[in-house]
Amino acid sequence: MHTPLCRHATGEPTAYAAHAVTVGLEEIGFSDHSPMPRDDFDDWRMRAADLQVYVEKVEQARAQFPQLRIRLALEVDFLPGQEEWVRDLARRHPWDYLIGSVHYVSEGWAIDNPHLLAEWDRHSPLAVWKAYVERLTAAADSGLFDIIGHADLCKKFGIYPEVDVAGLFTGFLETAARRGVAIELNTAGLRKSCREIYPSAAILEEAARLGVGITFGSDAHAPEETGMDFERAVELARSTGHTHWRRYQGRRYERVPL
Ligand code: ZN
Ligand code: FE
Repeated sequence: MHTPLCRHATGEPTAYAAHAVTVGLEEIGFSDHSPMPRDDFDDWRMRAADLQVYVEKVEQARAQFPQLRIRLALEVDFLPGQEEWVRDLARRHPWDYLIGSVHYVSEGWAIDNPHLLAEWDRHSPLAVWKAYVERLTAAADSGLFDIIGHADLCKKFGIYPEVDVAGLFTGFLETAARRGVAIELNTAGLRKSCREIYPSAAILEEAARLGVGITFGSDAHAPEETGMDFERAVELARSTGHTHWRRYQGRRYERVPL
C-alpha cells in the first residue's frame, strides 16, 4: 500500500488502517515507492527527505490501531547499477520486507506510466516484454528483495506480444525459486485495462510447480482499495496450485497454509 508521500496516492496511513479494520483484515503492510538517489529522477515517488516522515506515519498508524499488525516496507525500483543505493536504503530502517519492482525498461521510460503510453507504439510489444522480464530476473537474482512486485506489469495496458507470454517468465520463476524470492498476487491489475490480477494464472501455475512462494497485495493507492478483491486473489492462488502464502516480518517469512 502507498501513502501521499509518493505524490500519486491519497489518504494517510491511519485511513488505510481504518479501512483494513472495516473489511476485516488483521494484517496490512505499507510499501510506498522508495526514494531515488536524486529527487528529480521522476515525480511519482517519495523524496529522499521524506523517508523518515514515511516511517513516522506508519508508526502513527501502528499506535492508533493496535488491533492490526502493520508491516513497514518499501516498493523499490530495480535499476541495474543502483544495487548499492538499495543496500543503503535497506540499512536505514527496520523494514519487514522489500518489494523489488520493475517499472523502467530503459532510462526515462516506466512502461506502466499512463502519460507515456504513446511510447509503446515505438517498440514491438515482444521487445518490451523481453526487456521487462530480463530486468525482473536480474531483480530476483540480486539478493536485494524479499518479494517481486506485480510480476507481469507489462500487461497493464493490455498490449500483448503474439507469443505464449507465460513462457517468457520461466527463467524468471526459476531464478525466484533458487533465490527464495516470493512473488505477489497484486489485485491492482483488476483495476487496469488488462483486467487481471498480476501475475496471470499461467505464471502462477508455473510458480507453484517450481515452489515459488506468494504474498497478497492490493497495491492500494487510496484507503478504500485496501484489501480489494482479496477473495478473488485467494481463489486464484488455490486454483493455480498454491497451498501456502508467506507472511513477512523483519525480512524473514513464515509459510501460512492457504
Ligand atoms: Zn504507485
Ligand atoms: Fe509498482
